[in-house]
Amino acid sequence: MKALVKKFPKEGLWLEEVEIPVIGEKDVLVKMKKTAICGTDVHIYNWDKWSQETIPVPMTIGHEFVGEVVEVGSLVRNFKVGDLVSGEGHIVCGVCRNCLAGKRYLCKDTIGIGVNRTGIFAEYASIPETNVWMCDKSISEDALCILDPLGNAVHTALSFDLAGEDVLITGAGPIGIMAAAVAKHVGARHVVITDINDYRLKLAKELGPIITVNTKKEKLADVMKALGMTEGFDVGLEMSGNGDALNEMINNMVHGGKIAMLGIQAPDTQIDWNKIVFSGLFIKGIYGREMFETWYKMTAMLQSGLDISKVITHKMHYTKFEEGFQIMKSGQSGKVILEWD
Ligand code: NAD
Ligand code: ZN
Repeated sequence: MKALVKKFPKEGLWLEEVEIPVIGEKDVLVKMKKTAICGTDVHIYNWDKWSQETIPVPMTIGHEFVGEVVEVGSLVRNFKVGDLVSGEGHIVCGVCRNCLAGKRYLCKDTIGIGVNRTGIFAEYASIPETNVWMCDKSISEDALCILDPLGNAVHTALSFDLAGEDVLITGAGPIGIMAAAVAKHVGARHVVITDINDYRLKLAKELGPIITVNTKKEKLADVMKALGMTEGFDVGLEMSGNGDALNEMINNMVHGGKIAMLGIQAPDTQIDWNKIVFSGLFIKGIYGREMFETWYKMTAMLQSGLDISKVITHKMHYTKFEEGFQIMKSGQSGKVILEWD
């Protein structure tokens, strides 16, 4: 079968002929329909410091997918040939304190599909049954193939009650944009999203009545004033991974406001800790998706009218993956989908 492999420890990705995986008794073999490129895949493509320290070479990468079950292991109970599935990319240990408490997203020994073990940018992939998600066939396959990043958005956005609240999202990448749509869907009042990239802010506007701010050109304070907001945002969702954006958020929260942080900050990011103290802010870190509460909630929201289809800006056959990665790198895209049918 064909697979996109990190074959050499240098920039790039290679389309290779590899063996179809042999599944274990608790695994499901999935024939890929669609996969999506994540920022993580771009890091691996670029072979940055993190990738060099993390990714075993050679390895097939990728973790966002929708496909069809074509074989199940002898102990698999909940899936059968023909099921439409996606999957949770974090494989957990099952025996640590949090796993035993049912809080699998807090596992101390998480392994990432397409990061620490073979990924899904391939015609077929073997996934443990514990990580397979049964898809509702009435939801579009495009949406189903981005459940993983939508799950990041949903996990972060639903960390705090948003109904009737004013929400600030920093970073209008695909996840920030989807979080904005989720915040609107669950009844937030003003949803303001910041970025420094006009393409992305324009894309955010296509997902609903979302207020966009290019912080290189406009002051957040002026936008808040125009909206009649006098005390600050109730909830902040940090989705840029940028220190300036994080500080801007901290500076514009209501006293007692709540911040959920998904964006991965540089190790030397500085913040004024006393703003957290004197404003009585709450800060929560977010990793991955809640297994599987987030998956239930996002499915329910897609079934009840949440529309994130416009965040997908490019679709192409997997053989055109080079083009897909270059588009992702340009910043002039939302989600980029590789098709395997
Ligand atoms: P992305 O890189 O596509 O989007 C980040 C956006 O932030 C970009 O559009 C960028 O222009 C914008 N930005 C940069 N500087 C800014 C500033 N000063 N103010 C406002 N915006 C600014 O990333 P994504 O795929 O949408 O993911 C969002 C973030 O979440 C990334 O940092 C990613 O690494 C992180 N992430 C974390 C997890 C987790 O489990 N914690 C999972 C997935 C992604
Ligand atoms: Zn664990």
